[in-house]
Amino acid sequence: RAKAEARGSFRFFEPEMDARLQARRLLERDLREAVTAESFELHYQPIYDLNAERVCGFEALLRWNHPERGRISPAEFIPLAEELGLIIPLGEWVMRRACQEASRWPDGLKVAVNVSAVQFTSARLIGAVRDALAVSGLPGRRLELEITESVLVANPGTTTAMLHSLKGLGARVSMDDFGTGYSSLSYLRSFPFDKIKIDQSFVRDLGQADDSGFIVRAVIGLGASLGMTTTAEGVETEAQLARLRGEGCDEVQGYLFSRPVPSSEIPGLLRRWNGEARAIA
Ligand code: C2E
Ligand code: MG
Ligand code: MG
Ligand code: MG
Repeated sequence: RAKAEARGSFRFFEPEMDARLQARRLLERDLREAVTAESFELHYQPIYDLNAERVCGFEALLRWNHPERGRISPAEFIPLAEELGLIIPLGEWVMRRACQEASRWPDGLKVAVNVSAVQFTSARLIGAVRDALAVSGLPGRRLELEITESVLVANPGTTTAMLHSLKGLGARVSMDDFGTGYSSLSYLRSFPFDKIKIDQSFVRDLGQADDSGFIVRAVIGLGASLGMTTTAEGVETEAQLARLRGEGCDEVQGYLFSRPVPSSEIPGLLRRWNGEARAIA
């Protein structure tokens, strides 16, 4: 009887599993096609320097506008692209496009590009970054590469070597979403990062009941003592901004300043925040 019931329940779930599998296959097919056709776009979110009181750069964020489903979050399609091995060509497209677009911005503005763990451990990464810089003419010092903690844990030895190679091209390297992974504060010391990005989950709680201000303070203190810049992500309120200023955070990024915008809106943002009158070619 138990067997019959089990079989019954299995049959009950079957159509649903089929539908999920089917949806995934379709998404896979569409993603492959989109990578081949390069039908993606980069949006840019300003990074605001609290010491200079101006926008010092933009983070490039990948956008996929699916023909039927509309906009799909990178949180959904990046893991799929990693599984399918598509993240290498896709990541190289992002690198080329971001460097090319940034090369038209006023000098001094940096572009931050997210690098997935799969890309980071690929032998092609250095060549791809070097090519993107050479073709665009963007000086390496204007490129920042954002890497998440998962990379460190997987392979600490090769991570250090890779970070040094990237820095050898003049680029800077940032630890993204710090605090969400497994690494401890002191672990960070062993890697030559230029910047720590404090994850938005810690910023969100600033000034709330379960204030995680002590974590933010510890990360900013560590950053200062290691000579690393600290950037707070996901800043949405004036109260959070005031706290971050008070703690001596160097840079902030979040909806309070701007959502990620298409490249065409960058001149307007720069006029608003930096008083840049200069047009971008
Ligand atoms: P991330 O690198 O930590 O990027 C920050 C994310 O926070 C972005 O989400 C951004 O839109 C969002 N955000 C910015 N300010 C605020 C705010 O004030 N409040 C809230 N709630 N969110 C804010 P997005 O664009 O959906 O990207 C999600 C993640 O997908 C990124 O997290 C990054 O890990 C990944 N990703 C995006 N573009 C790329 C890419 O080109 N390559 C790779 N490998 N990963 C990418
Ligand atoms: Mg990032
Ligand atoms: Mg982040
Ligand atoms: Mg994040």
